[in-house]
Amino acid sequence: MELAERARAALKRCGVDLPAAVLSGGRTVLARTPVTGEELFPVPAADAAAVTDAIGKAHEAFLTWRTVPAPVRGALVKRFGELLTEHKADLADLVGVEVGKIRSEALGEIQEMVDICDYAVGLSRQLQGRTMPSERPGHRLMETWHPIGVVAVISAFNFPAAVWSWNTALALVCGNSVVWKASELTPLTSHACSALLARAAAECGAPENLNVLVVGDAEAAAPLLDDRRVPVVSATGSERMGGEVAPRVAARFGRLILELGGNNAAIVTPSADLDLAVRGIVFAAAGTAGQRCTTMRRVIVHESRAEELVSRIAAVYARLPVGDPFAEGTLVGPLISASAFTSMQDALSAAAADGGTVVTGGERVDVVGDGYYVRPALVRMPAQTALVQRETFAPILYVLTYNTFEEAVALHNGVPQGLSSSIFTTDQREAEQFLAADGSDCGIVNVNIGTSGAEIGGAFGGEKNTGGGRESGSDAWRGYMRRATNTVNYSRELPLAQGVNFG
Ligand code: NAD
Repeated sequence: MELAERARAALKRCGVDLPAAVLSGGRTVLARTPVTGEELFPVPAADAAAVTDAIGKAHEAFLTWRTVPAPVRGALVKRFGELLTEHKADLADLVGVEVGKIRSEALGEIQEMVDICDYAVGLSRQLQGRTMPSERPGHRLMETWHPIGVVAVISAFNFPAAVWSWNTALALVCGNSVVWKASELTPLTSHACSALLARAAAECGAPENLNVLVVGDAEAAAPLLDDRRVPVVSATGSERMGGEVAPRVAARFGRLILELGGNNAAIVTPSADLDLAVRGIVFAAAGTAGQRCTTMRRVIVHESRAEELVSRIAAVYARLPVGDPFAEGTLVGPLISASAFTSMQDALSAAAADGGTVVTGGERVDVVGDGYYVRPALVRMPAQTALVQRETFAPILYVLTYNTFEEAVALHNGVPQGLSSSIFTTDQREAEQFLAADGSDCGIVNVNIGTSGAEIGGAFGGEKNTGGGRESGSDAWRGYMRRATNTVNYSRELPLAQGVNFG
């Protein structure tokens, strides 16, 4: 089936009638597909005025939603999860068309949405505060967690649905509403997801506009950064974007959840099980065509294992099926755009100029139409140069060698980003050292498993230039609520804290 038709059909099944929406006039953005490089059709988009309007609507919805009991809010997320399950194949179609993910990864992204909904439903009965012993007689000291307001969710192209759901499922059970500024590269998936959530809300009798979608560029997003009715801005994307967004939100003391770029590495030690390491490294480095925030971009291997590891990875790379993401058996789909391809080629030239050697890959593969397909590149580098220290959002894996464990950890931590990390070792001391306070400085630290493919049960995010935000599981929900500390005096006295005697 033609991609445009496939996308229209999936949208329609999700309840989005695009032609009607577009014919109603207003701003549009052109949906494209990296699979063939073709333009599909126009989709409604927003300008800054529409974003301000969206904030107003979401704020109205919040005023009602915040007093709905949390378990009842959970019922909406439960229904949404059911609709996602029902429309899993449709949403995976849209992710495949817009991002070029292979089928299993596109389906996997939608499964993550179902999983976070399950998680959030359970959470809706567990938004617990603590009770602490008061130092004063006849007093109770405790904390309560309250809804905070409109949460802005700014999402990146590479997880066009899951990132929004990680934020939105939690925000909704926490009693908030959402304005979703979706990537201008993925308007179709975002319209479909929003339509399903709107349907769930209508069926559950929840207010309208708990999620208001705005598709637009950075300029359109500006009101979300500046408007005080948006207490939380959760932004996923490049370090460049974070650098623009963070100071503006901070200037009005808004709360930021930043999920920015990664430069993830694996250390492969002398004792490593190389069968495991090769599998873990190849999936993390070449999967999603290197377009995950958790993609492995560096391998730091002990000198004694370097030749063997490099030749084994190179052998697998040479056989990786690069091709049409909808075709059975494909493991590496296209890059998102021509400019992604250019930045990959620029990085490979810079690597050569730095004394690096391309062991295999990097070339464009002719697959279909004007899609930018590449063979994942494996590059040996003599040092961790400025190039290696930055994230190039394409499948390039730099190999560095080390001698002492301390040197490996220093190289590992010697980049500005701090998202995901791993060590392949069978030496428990090394594994524990990597997990310890003076080990990996990342938000995600793995042993004998690659850097990508996090589960929703844990908090997701990273340190340093990755932005410090946490989403998804564990206690990430606290980022979407305001905490009130309460002291209740049930005595007939008014003793002051710290023994103060005020007359
Ligand atoms: P991008 O920074 O180009 O865009 C991300 C989003 O930010 C888009 O919606 C874009 O419109 C918006 N945006 C950009 N500038 C803005 C501004 N000044 N104000 C408001 N909004 C603005 O990123 P991308 O190319 O879509 O995605 C790839 C990047 O995202 C990579 O760096 C990747 O590592 C990162 N990423 C990080 C995570 C994570 O959880 N840490 C997850 C996915 C992607």
